[in-house]
Amino acid sequence: MATVRMIDVAVNFTDGMFKGMYHGKQCHVSDIATVLNRAWSRRNIVSTVNLDCRLDLKLIALQARNSEYNPKRFSAVIMRIREPKTTALIFASGKMVITGAKSEQQSKMAARKYARIIQKLGLACSHGAFSSYEPELFPGAKVRDETYTAFENIYPVLTERWIQVLVGDAWLRELAFRLVVMSLESPIMFLVRFTLNVVVTGGSLEESKEALAIAETDGRLFCTVGVHPTRCKEFEESGDPEKHFQALLSLAKQGIEKGKVVAIGECGLDYDRLHFCPAEIQRKYFEKQFELAYATKLPMFLHMRAAAEDFCEILERNKDRFSGGVTHSFTDSAEDCDKLLSFSNMYIGVNGCSLKTTENLDVVRGIPVERMMIETDSPYCEIKNTHAGMTYVKSTRPSKKKEKYDPECIVKGRNEPCLVRQVLEVVAGCKGINNIDQLSRTLYYNTCRVFFPHDLDSAADALLAGSHDAQ
Ligand SMILES: [Zn+2]
Repeated sequence: MATVRMIDVAVNFTDGMFKGMYHGKQCHVSDIATVLNRAWSRRNIVSTVNLDCRLDLKLIALQARNSEYNPKRFSAVIMRIREPKTTALIFASGKMVITGAKSEQQSKMAARKYARIIQKLGLACSHGAFSSYEPELFPGAKVRDETYTAFENIYPVLTERWIQVLVGDAWLRELAFRLVVMSLESPIMFLVRFTLNVVVTGGSLEESKEALAIAETDGRLFCTVGVHPTRCKEFEESGDPEKHFQALLSLAKQGIEKGKVVAIGECGLDYDRLHFCPAEIQRKYFEKQFELAYATKLPMFLHMRAAAEDFCEILERNKDRFSGGVTHSFTDSAEDCDKLLSFSNMYIGVNGCSLKTTENLDVVRGIPVERMMIETDSPYCEIKNTHAGMTYVKSTRPSKKKEKYDPECIVKGRNEPCLVRQVLEVVAGCKGINNIDQLSRTLYYNTCRVFFPHDLDSAADALLAGSHDAQ
């Protein structure tokens, strides 16, 4: 079984937008579960069916509408139907591959429709269970009940022969397709499982508590504990900075015990937003939080804006106190990036904000993939149409304005974890990387190295297996 794994290392689920609040106004219901379902849902289902009979492809291509057959190019008939919108590859062996369905249900329905088309052409096999039902079994809407009953009868027969390749998104379809074509040669079934782990970021003591509570709701969710540079005044406003620090420490320890807290953060320096917190206080409590990393042996999830010099100075003084880290949402210059990469345990986190301008893309081009992670930083940092990176985006989702909230669509202007694939696509595109699967394995491996050491072995195996495929 192949598993395609990705990790979104920065998701701000504690943000009001995921509770439906925009600038203090309630626009829709709280919808983290919906957002996560979208990230985890299996889209673009690829399925194969074995009709268990030899097929005359020329005849099919001649008689069936919406079909093409060019044996010099491809040894299958390519057929399309509109409802559900899918494409089938029909092989002479009687095997069929159906792609493009958005759900298992749709894929099953499409399989039945293609089978019926072929059967109507009088090409169904003369033996075997498949041929034992009548061509007129699906006469249309007027006897709908009969149709449903017929479906129920046929369905076990079809499911027996199903090879389901469940994939996550457009860019995965090709991988799935390759596996399916391979599987046609053997009776072995392939299942590509798509998983996306999400790291929910905490930006204050209260937010970190909330992030941990959210992370506890699903095995694929994890979180950080720490105080964001713009929130560092909370140490002093609490009246007792040391007590505040101890509360963070005990929360982190508690979260580690639960297997949920994977990093200290987000912390760092943000000199673009000094109005929230003066530089001096930011520096003081940035440095202080290395003690959290040291005490818990956790890596660091870092934020740096227009502060590379001070940031790296503090990093240098504390480099032996933390195991590794990522400087997320990187938007600074190539020189600043190099400064960070001079720390051997530091990775660069790339999201939509890192892909806005052609200058940004040049910087990303210069980051070795072995030192990179990807993230959405949702609900912020989406890739907008006006951004330079947009040219490389392949998977898009239908969206609606927050005022016209629809749980089936993403909210316009609000980023969410399912869009982490767009970041992957832009990184691949701007770096000229064709093997996007291998890129995602490398990024996954990097993330495991820092945040998920328990998964490191399997990540390394997948990486090696992928590089063999590529050869
Ligand atoms: Zn940040």
